[in-house]
Amino acid sequence: MIHIFLHFLVPAFVAGGFFRRYWVHAYLLMIATMVVDLDHLLASPIYDPNRCSIGFHPLHQPELVLLYLLLCIPAKTRLIGLGLCIHMLLDAVDCQLTSGLWIS
Ligand SMILES: [Zn+2]
Repeated sequence: MIHIFLHFLVPAFVAGGFFRRYWVHAYLLMIATMVVDLDHLLASPIYDPNRCSIGFHPLHQPELVLLYLLLCIPAKTRLIGLGLCIHMLLDAVDCQLTSGLWIS
């Protein structure tokens, strides 16, 4: 639950902090990148709290993260790239937490 909350909260901070003049636009674009999670629908079960999204779902492959990083460079795709990078970062943090690395 906290994870999903962060997916909405972190882009809000980035939009408010770095794109203050058009933060609504920036925020909505970054939120829109959450559509990458549609690839979860291909998996069964669709949601498994103990599964790491990174490297499992087709749009969460490490080589695609490189592409998402490149999307941050041109101004036109920057917000989409940024949104995707934030998304992958949060998913990766989630993987660390569920793997028990930080808990044990
Ligand atoms: Zn995801």
